[in-house]
Order: sequence, then structure tokens, then C-alpha cells
Amino acid sequence: YLKLAGIRKQFGDMTVLNQVNLDIREGELVTLLGPSGCGKSTLLRCIAGLTELSDGQIWLDDKDIVNLPPCSREIGMVFQSYALFPNMTVSENIGYGMKMRGASKDARRQRAEELLELIDMTDKRDAYPQHLSGGQQQRVALARSLAVQPKVLLLDEPLSALDAKIRKNLRTEIREIQKKFNITTIFVTHDQEEALTLSDRVCLMNKGSIVQQGTPEELYSTPKTEFVARFMGSYN
Ligand code: ATP
Ligand code: MG
Repeated sequence: YLKLAGIRKQFGDMTVLNQVNLDIREGELVTLLGPSGCGKSTLLRCIAGLTELSDGQIWLDDKDIVNLPPCSREIGMVFQSYALFPNMTVSENIGYGMKMRGASKDARRQRAEELLELIDMTDKRDAYPQHLSGGQQQRVALARSLAVQPKVLLLDEPLSALDAKIRKNLRTEIREIQKKFNITTIFVTHDQEEALTLSDRVCLMNKGSIVQQGTPEELYSTPKTEFVARFMGSYN
């Protein structure tokens, strides 16, 4: 499981995250939903270790990970914009994290092949990112983050740069892969439809805090505040 307790983050005198508490059980997919600027990406970056916390604790399976460097946290992350290495092939991109951890070339290639099969892209193993579509690039980014077998997957609006149809397909694909590996996942989006269709649980954020969490049905049918109701589209 993943446990966040009392997470606070300041940039200068601006408080971007304020007392965020969140418990996620193993294999659960939680979406973080909320308006632009509410702190979703900052929260993911804090969990991944890319941004330092101002205060709070992060536990992963009984281990306090706050002081671990990103590569020791067993957390994979996919970003909104495609962040593949342009000078590496698809296969090399997927194997990158393993290489950093000292895996042999054979082990990397074998793992890359398994993941290429999973994302249905074995024919692109030697292609460079610039020759891939946006959806393909995000699939590779997903495979790359899974290659090191993380315990937690953080997805920061991985679909937002894609057009509607590809977006829908890839959404389903991500959910299937997430279930298959039973991997604890936080999926950030500001699209309430995406959150409602994809998640076991939704956390709605506003101004650096989680304002309500529950199943998609709970947030939709019993919003606690007008903000939640408006954001979930419970009113028309
Ligand atoms: P979006 O939906 O637009 O991606 P978000 O919820 O992901 O928004 P964040 O990127 O977490 O929002 O930003 C939250 C707030 O923190 C914003 O006001 C932003 O300007 C500020 N912020 C983020 N990173 C930094 C930084 N490195 N230095 C200063 N302020 C920052
Ligand atoms: Mg963001």
C-alpha cells in the first residue's frame, strides 16, 4: 500500500499542497481530479521524489520513502508530454531504467520484448520516438515505467495530448494493464469523465487539498459541496 500523511509543499511563501492525506491499497487505481493549478502534478512529483516535500510522510509497504532518491523508490511515472529519449530506440528507451540499475543487455532486451508485446508494438522495437504517433509514444512511456517492476505507477495526464478516439482506447488499455499487474496506480486528470469511467476511487482536489474522496458513484451522486457537484457535473 501507499500512505501519504500530512503532505505539505511550499514554493516560497505559496502553499501548493496543504495537509494531503491519502491511503491507497495495493492494486487500487485512484484518480486525482481537479482544476488546473490545484497541485496534482506537484503531489505526484513529491511521491516520485522529483520534488522535495516541505512536510509530511510517504510510506510504501511500511517503509518511509521520503528520504530515498527517486530511483530507489520503486515508483514509475508517465508524464503528460512525451518524455522519451529522442536519441534512443523504442527498445532502448524501455530498457533505460534497467540499465541504470545494472541489468545486462540480454535481460534488458528480453524484458523490452515482453513489454513490446504487451503494448502491441513489437514491430517498432528499433524505431526512434520521432517516428511514432503520440499514442504510440505514450505506450512506450508506459512500458518504460513498467520495465523496472515498480510497486506504484504515477500517471500525470498521460492521455491529454491525444485525440479523442486514441484517448479512449488507450484509457481502456491502461486499465487492463494496471489490472493485469495489479499495480497500485494514481492517475491524474482534469477530465471528470475519465475519472468516472476509470477509477476504483476518485480524489477531488482544490487549492492544494483533497476536498472529497470516494467511489466515482459517491462523488457524482452525493457531492459534499457545491464545488464537488459542479466539478463532477452532477448539476446541469
Ligand atoms: P494542471 O492541471 O494545469 O497540470 P496541476 O494541478 O498539476 O495543474 P501543479 O503543476 O501541481 O498543478 O501546480 C500547482 C501550483 O504550484 C501552481 O500554482 C504552480 O504555478 C505552482 N508551481 C508548480 N511548480 C512550481 C515550481 N517549481 N516553482 C514555483 N511554483 C510552482
Ligand atoms: Mg499538472
